[in-house]
Parts: sequence; structure tokens; C-alpha cells
Amino acid sequence: MSGAILSVNSGSSSIKFGLFDVVDGQPELSARGKLEKIGISPRLEIRDREDATIASREWAGQSDLTHEDLLENLFDWAPDNLPRREIAAIGHRVVHGGTEFTRPILIDDDALEKLDGLCALAPLHQPDNLAAIRAMARLAPGMPQVACFDTAFHATMPAVASRIALPRRFAEQGIRRYGFHGLSYEYVAARLHELDPELARGRVIAAHLGNGASMCAMLDGRSVDTTMGFTALDGLVMGTRCGTLDPGVVLHLVQHEGLSASEAEDLLYRESGLLGLSASSSDMRALHASEDPQAVEAVETFVWSAAHHAAALCASLGGLDAMVFTAGIGENDPLIRAAIAARLEWLGVVVDEAANQRNAQVISAPQSKVAMLVIPTDEESMIARHTLSLASAGV
Ligand code: ADP
Repeated sequence: MSGAILSVNSGSSSIKFGLFDVVDGQPELSARGKLEKIGISPRLEIRDREDATIASREWAGQSDLTHEDLLENLFDWAPDNLPRREIAAIGHRVVHGGTEFTRPILIDDDALEKLDGLCALAPLHQPDNLAAIRAMARLAPGMPQVACFDTAFHATMPAVASRIALPRRFAEQGIRRYGFHGLSYEYVAARLHELDPELARGRVIAAHLGNGASMCAMLDGRSVDTTMGFTALDGLVMGTRCGTLDPGVVLHLVQHEGLSASEAEDLLYRESGLLGLSASSSDMRALHASEDPQAVEAVETFVWSAAHHAAALCASLGGLDAMVFTAGIGENDPLIRAAIAARLEWLGVVVDEAANQRNAQVISAPQSKVAMLVIPTDEESMIARHTLSLASAGV
């Protein structure tokens, strides 16, 4: 296929994108960009593959600009301001594929309608993902568009790991554990396989620790369990999400505090986690910099939660050969990695302090029974690979 691939990751307040040339049949990054602060004061930054800024722009104070307005602006502006590239196909991250879409698909009207039907299962992400697809369809009619699902990687989970112990009729309505961050895990699994095929065939926990955080238990590179469930709220303590929570707490808040459904949604998705516990920030760097005991407790709880879930995933794997850290915190934060590893010492984990400090690829000591690695994730490149293979096959 000739022409470039654009991969789009559209969220509630930001749109990340990557532009990939096709070299020897493989996508190769040429530029990455981010439209952020959508709904507040949008701005755009584009960087080349050496991470040097090649373009930036601001729409100061223009809080009324929608995702579609900004994509349209970008489309009109790019040809005069960026090296011209003919785009051949666009790939999108779509959070929820439900039970039907367990691999990437070429989007048509029928698929888009089905994906619309899944908005209720991921109200905070799915509508923005689909808005970008619709905007691109209007801006570039006839352009092949591919949807890559965050749930798809977990389609290999055994039934026992996806079941929720409610009356059966709820499973028929799609209430089950799906898991998310699948594009990140797929990338990490592929990269681990390149680095150490034997380790990749073993029992591996990948820890995606960013604003959203989860872990995936992989056997031979396939998901067998994960910490997020029906929604991206479950599992680890996150930046602003509470993670695993006794459902009795929600009942209590509704019955005794008069919380409405939308107040509960705000509380659990946007006001909890590190932000809720510290009462100051959802950002791990800010918490490390603070001496406030509440910030210290927030970090302590994050680490406890991560180690707790890692231990549970060991039960699904029957032991552990390797643990891989990825995403903002996982890739850059030696303190958090060391603290999680310390709580997993009983598994035979030994970290090499110097390697950990410099975010090396292998951070375990030679005598460690579990290999500990840092692998930077790249969801946009995973989207580009899927998009290239589907668009070239024309299926
Ligand atoms: P998102 O889920 O929004 O993509 P990221 O993967 O960018 O999130 O992760 C954001 C988190 O990573 C924040 O808590 C941020 O503080 C943390 N982070 C990023 N860089 C560093 C760093 N150098 N040291 C510690 N934490 C970092």
C-alpha cells in the first residue's frame, strides 16, 4: 500500500495521533501529535520521531471548539504547515468492542451503529472515539478507517476470568469482565517477544501504570486475566479512579448520602484515586514532590493496590517468570517500581537499584527469580500496524 497511515486516539479532553510512513511493508513513525485541553483552551503540538517539536498552535480560550472542529482545523492547516503526505488509511483506538468485535475491523455504517450501541458500557470514552471516526468520514469521504479495540486483546481470557457472579440474566446483557488497555498490552507482548522469546512464552504480568492503570496476566503472550473488568474503573488505584471497591460503598452512598447516578460517576471516575486520597493531585510526580502526609499515603495505597493485584494475577498464572512495567509511571518512576517490587519480594523478586534508577530495559538483578523489565508502550504504532494490515488486505 502506498501513502501514510494516521492513527488516532481520541479521548475526552485530548486527541493523540501518529503519522506513519510505510517502509518495507511496515509502519514507521514520522510524526506524533497531541491536541489537548479540548473544552478548555485547546492547543496542538506535533513532534518528529526524534521528539523535536515541528509545529505548535493554540486556540486560546476557545472552549467551544469540539473534537470535530479541531480535527477540521488540523486538516485545513496541515498541508500548508507540515510536509505534505498523502494519507491512505486512518486507524482509531476504540475502547469497547463488546463481545462481537474481538479483532480490528474495517469500519462501515453497520459496524458504527453496533459500536454506538456499546456507548452505555463505556460512557466516558466510546462516544469520543466514535466522534473522531465520524469527523474523519466527513472530512475524508471514502478513506478506509479501521477500529482497534482496547477490549480485543482480552478475548482470550478463560470464561472463569470474565464471569461476574451476578444472576445469569445479567451476563446475557453483556455484563461481564472485558478488560482494557489491550493495545498497550498487545504492543508490550510483541516487544517482549522480540527481546526475549523464551520469557515471552512464560508467565508474565504487564503493568500499565499511567493516569489509568491496570495489569494483565499473559501466558505465551495472550491475556489470561486482567485487573480492569466491566469498566475501566475496576482494579488498581488510579489517578482519579478508585479501582476495586466494595459495591456496598456505592449502595451506602446512594441510600444514606443521597448520591445520584451522575454524582456517583463523577466521584468514582474523577474525584477518587490518588487525587481523592491526597486531596491535592492525581499526578504521581507532584505527589513525590510533596511532603504532605496525605500525598505520602496516596502513593502508599497505590503501591499496595498494585502489589495486591499482581499477587492475584500470579494465582491466574500459576507463578511468575517476568513482570513488565509500562506507561507514564511504569516507564519513568523508579520509586514506584522499587516499592511494588519490595512488596513482591516473597516471589523471589530482586531489583538492581542502579538499573532501576536509570529506567533500564532490565531492572532485575541476575539472582532474581522473576525478570523485571521496563518496556515503553506505543499504542499508536499498534493501531498503525493493524490499520496497515486491514487496509492493504482490503477486508
Ligand atoms: P495517560 O493514561 O493519561 O496516557 P500517562 O501514561 O502519560 O497517562 O501517565 C501519566 C502519569 O505518569 C502521571 O501520574 C505522571 O505523573 C506520571 N509520570 C510521567 N512521567 C513521570 C516521571 N518522569 N516520573 C514519575 N512519574 C511520571
